Amino acid sequence: MNMALRPVTDLKGVGTAMALKLEKLGIHCLQDLLFHLPLRYQDRTRIRAIGALRPGDECVVIGEIKTADVLQGRRRSLLCRVQDGTGTLTLRFFHFNAGQKNALKPGLTIRCFGEARPGPGGLEMVHPEYRKQTEDGLVAVAETLTPVYPMTEGLQQNRVRTLIQQVLDELDDQTIEELLPASLRAQWQLWSLADSLRYLHQPPADADQTLMLEGKHPAQRRLAFEELLAHNLSLQKVRLKTREQGAPALPLHNTLVTQFLAGLPFTPTGAQQRVAAEVAQDMAQPFPMLRLVQGDVGSGKTIVAALAALQAVENGAQAAIMAPTEILAEQHYINFTSWLEPLGLKVAWLVGKLKGKARQEQLASIVDGSANVVVGTHALFQEEVVFKDLGLAVIDEQHRFGVHQRLSLREKGRNGNCAPHQLIMTATPIPRTLTMSAYADLDCSIIDELPPGRTPVNTVLIADTRRNEVIERVRAACAEGRQLYWVCTLIEESEQLQCQAAEVSCEQLRETLPELRIGLVHGRMKSAEKAAVMAQFKAAELDLLVATTVIEVGVDVPNASVMIIENPERLGLAQLHQLRGRVGRGPVESFCVLMYQLPLSQTGKERLAVMRQTTDGFKIAEKDLELRGPGEVLGTRQTGDMQFRIADLQRDGDLLGRVRELAGQMEQFPQQSQQLVWRWLGRGEEYGNV
Ligand code: ADP
Ligand code: MG
Repeated sequence: MNMALRPVTDLKGVGTAMALKLEKLGIHCLQDLLFHLPLRYQDRTRIRAIGALRPGDECVVIGEIKTADVLQGRRRSLLCRVQDGTGTLTLRFFHFNAGQKNALKPGLTIRCFGEARPGPGGLEMVHPEYRKQTEDGLVAVAETLTPVYPMTEGLQQNRVRTLIQQVLDELDDQTIEELLPASLRAQWQLWSLADSLRYLHQPPADADQTLMLEGKHPAQRRLAFEELLAHNLSLQKVRLKTREQGAPALPLHNTLVTQFLAGLPFTPTGAQQRVAAEVAQDMAQPFPMLRLVQGDVGSGKTIVAALAALQAVENGAQAAIMAPTEILAEQHYINFTSWLEPLGLKVAWLVGKLKGKARQEQLASIVDGSANVVVGTHALFQEEVVFKDLGLAVIDEQHRFGVHQRLSLREKGRNGNCAPHQLIMTATPIPRTLTMSAYADLDCSIIDELPPGRTPVNTVLIADTRRNEVIERVRAACAEGRQLYWVCTLIEESEQLQCQAAEVSCEQLRETLPELRIGLVHGRMKSAEKAAVMAQFKAAELDLLVATTVIEVGVDVPNASVMIIENPERLGLAQLHQLRGRVGRGPVESFCVLMYQLPLSQTGKERLAVMRQTTDGFKIAEKDLELRGPGEVLGTRQTGDMQFRIADLQRDGDLLGRVRELAGQMEQFPQQSQQLVWRWLGRGEEYGNV
C-alpha cells in the first residue's frame, strides 16, 4: 500500500479518539499530516537576554529565581522574579499546585519559553513553559524553529508536533512519492517535495520567517505549485476526454447567418465579429468546441450565441440555449423568436413552469427535429428531453454554475460517443486567475468592446439615513419622464424575506409618491405576473419598478436610466455590476444610487468605492476576488469548488502561467499526472467524475 495513504492509526499512540480529532482537521492519512502546514513558528533555537526583550517577543530565556510569592488578590497568583544579569522578568501563574509552588524556589535556575508582555512591574510571561536548567549547565535548545499548527479543540500542539515528527523521521520517496520529474523540477527551479515538507515542518533557525508567514517561501510555493498543477491536470484530463468524443463538424455556410445579419438594425462590433469567428472555426471541427465567451454586461453576447445557433441550423442540427432563470430564458426566447422566425425557423421553449399539453408539444418538436433552436432553463437537461440532433449547447450566465455542475451538464448533453459543441457565456467577467484555474478546461474568448453610443453610469453612494432625499430625487427624475428601478437586496439568503422587504418598500413608495405608477416584481410571484409587470415597465406604463434581484439578469429597458439599490453592501460586486448594467442602455445620462445601511465595515466601504470608481467589469471582478475570495466570486452555490488545501489564488495566482506550461509538459508523464490528481483531488472527487 502507498505509504502516504496509510491511516493515521498506523502511527504509534494514535487510537480511535485521536483519529477522530485529527479528522476534524481534515487529516486521515499520513500524507494529510504532512500537508498540514504550520501557521507560524516559534524560535526556541536561541537563548535571549532578558534585558533585550520587547513586548510581544516569544522566546526562550534562562535566569535565576530571585523571589517567589503567592499574591492573594482578586485572582490568586504565583509571581516569580527571574534575573539573568541583563534584566528582570516576572513569571505569572494563575493556576499552580503545591508541587509547582515548592519547586519554583529562589535560587533555582530555570529555562522558560513564553511571550513577553507588559505587566505592572515590567515585562512578564504568563504561564510560560518552563524547565529546571540541567545540573551541568548545558543548554539544550531546539535545533529548528518550532512549528505552530492549526488546531482543533482537545488536541495539543505537542501531540501533533510529535506525530508529524514521526512521519518526517521516515520521510523519503517511499513515504510520499516525488511526482514531478527531476528534469522539469530543474527547469522550473522547484524544490523537491521531501525537502519542501521537511523545511516547512522543521525550518532551520535562520529561516526567513517573514517570507514564510506571507506564504512566499520556495518550499511553500513548490507545494502550491503542485496543488494548482493537479487541479489543472484534472481539468485538462476532462478536456481531453471530451475531445476524444466526436462532434458533428458544422462548418459555416453563411446562408442563414448572412440573412440574419442583414436583418439586424446594427452591425456587430469588431469584438463580436472576432469572437463569432473563433466560435465558427471551433464548430467546424469534428470534436466538441469547449469555449467560454466573456463579455461585460451589455457587450452583446446574445448575438454571438445567435450566430453560433444559426451555424448549427445551417448544417441541419439543433441548438439549445440554456439560461439560469425563467425570466432570462423568456427574454432569450422572445429575442430568438423575433430573429429566427422571419428566416423560416422554429424556436421551441422549455422551462419548469411549462406543463401539460403545451409542454408535450414543445417536447415533441424537440424530438422530431421541427424545433431548430430550443431555449430554456436547466429543464432542458432533464431526461424526458430528447433532441433529434443536438449540435450546439449554449449555456448563458455561466458564473452561476460551479465547475462540477458545469461538467455534469456537459455529461448530460452527450449523446453516445458524440457530444454537442459547447459555448459558455458569462455575464460577469472572470478574473484571469480564475479562468486559468476553474476554467482551465475551456478555450476563452473575450468581447472587450461595448456597442457604440453607451453612456457610462454615474454611481453615487448615499447612506440610508438620507432616504428622504433619495425619494425626492426619484420624484424629480420621474417628472422628467425617466423610468427607474428600485432594487431590494437579499436578506440573509432568504428569498422570502427579500420579497417581503420589496413589498414593504413598494408600499412605502406608493404612499410617499402617490402621483407615480409603481410596479413590483419579485421571485415569489407567478411567472405570468412577473412577465406582465415587466412588459408594463418596458412599455413605459410604469414609472418605477420595485424589484428584488430577480431583475439582475437579462432585462432590457433602454428608457430606464436610474437605479436605486437598497443595502448594496449585501451583494457581491459582480452582482452589483450586473444590476447596474440594467441602466445606461439608452442615450441619456444614467445614475446608480447605492443606498447603504450604516455602519459600513471597512471592506464594505472599499467594495462600494470600487463600484463608484469603475464600470469596467474586469476590474470589478478582480477586486471582488481580492476582497471576497474565489468561492464567492464564482457564486455562492459551489462552495466546494476551488477550495485549495495550500494554494491561494490571490497569493499564488502569478504561478498559474507556469502551471499551465508545466501541465503541458506533464503529458509525457501520464502516470505521474494521474497520481498528482489523485493526491490532491482524491480519487472520487477529481473533476469530471460525475
Ligand atoms: P449581454 O452581453 O449582456 O448579454 P445583450 O446581448 O443582451 O448583452 O445585448 C445588449 C443590448 O445591446 C441588446 O439590446 C442588443 O440588441 C444590443 N446590441 C448588441 N450588439 C450590438 C451592436 N453591435 N450594436 C448596437 N447594439 C447592440
Ligand atoms: Mg446576456
